[in-house]
Amino acid sequence: MSLKEHESINRDEIRRRVEIGSFTICAKAGEGLYARAFMIKSHAHLSKEDQKKLFGDRPVGLIDVCGFNTVLRNIPVASGNSEFSLVEITFTEATKARFKGLKIYTGNRDDCLDCTLESPHRIVELEKGIAAAARHLHISPGLAAIYGLSDQQRISATIPGEERTIEFKNIIVLVGDIETVELHLDADEALSANLEDGQIVCLEK
Ligand SMILES: [Zn+2]
Repeated sequence: MSLKEHESINRDEIRRRVEIGSFTICAKAGEGLYARAFMIKSHAHLSKEDQKKLFGDRPVGLIDVCGFNTVLRNIPVASGNSEFSLVEITFTEATKARFKGLKIYTGNRDDCLDCTLESPHRIVELEKGIAAAARHLHISPGLAAIYGLSDQQRISATIPGEERTIEFKNIIVLVGDIETVELHLDADEALSANLEDGQIVCLEK
């Protein structure tokens, strides 16, 4: 479906089609693939060991990430049982904290920079533990089959805007433990597109 055609579709009509769960109809009729898009804020995934070091047996709270001339405060912990610790921040924050050469994490830990994490109780030095989040699409296995998408495939999404329509490329498809389909963009990207949280966007393979 061309962008012009996509923009000409009545927004309520798209919403209705998605909300009644007619992904099958959309996909089969070749009318395009849709997902709700959300802004994800900076967050940390902690390994069991690092979580234990930072919080002990206390409830897990927010952490601070020490940059070179400033501290990124109150970063939430998204998960505490990860294989390794990874903090995902935006390029705006990286500039503020002077994390030079921040890369987008697409599965290679060597792309991550070193950083220091601080809880109210302890400081942990993290080797290769900070990067920017890759754009990604979470999708259930069932919907992935209907959409014809496979895990790790790269797709594009168009965020319509009156004067600022933006196409995001290199979105990584993550087929897994979710019941629906959601596009996740970081705060820099979502703000640049003036994304309304939960907005329905058109995906392109
Ligand atoms: Zn996500």
